Amino acid sequence: MGTQPKRRMTKQRKKILEVLRSTTSHPTADWIYDQVKQEIPNISLGTVYRNLNVLKEMGEIRELDYGSSHSHFDGNAEKHYHFTCLECGKICDVDESLHFELNQNVEEKLGCSIDYHRLEFFGVCSECKANKNKTD
Ligand code: ZN
Ligand code: MN
Repeated sequence: MGTQPKRRMTKQRKKILEVLRSTTSHPTADWIYDQVKQEIPNISLGTVYRNLNVLKEMGEIRELDYGSSHSHFDGNAEKHYHFTCLECGKICDVDESLHFELNQNVEEKLGCSIDYHRLEFFGVCSECKANKNKTD
């Protein structure tokens, strides 16, 4: 940080950011590629990946890493929690303030200093719950 050269907001990069900011669905790079391709037909998936990485480094977006499967991206770079539906795979924002007291608790327990914590919620979303009740 601080040593990074200033990155220009190219046309492609701007479009990718615009697409990502226009949705709350936390899409994958493939989905973003399909959207951007409609306006920039000659763009490649590799270019989309590269620009997503640059935007991440610029602090404009966040990459949501769930380990094995491919990454999802978030146009909202502010730190916030997410809920993932185990039935349909949907990822939504959780409107819950960050629990900074957890950092303090852990610092006291381990005598360490905490930079950040990760907290993920998993379960069945309201729509999947409703669908289940219908078929039961
Ligand atoms: Zn669901
Ligand atoms: Mn989010």
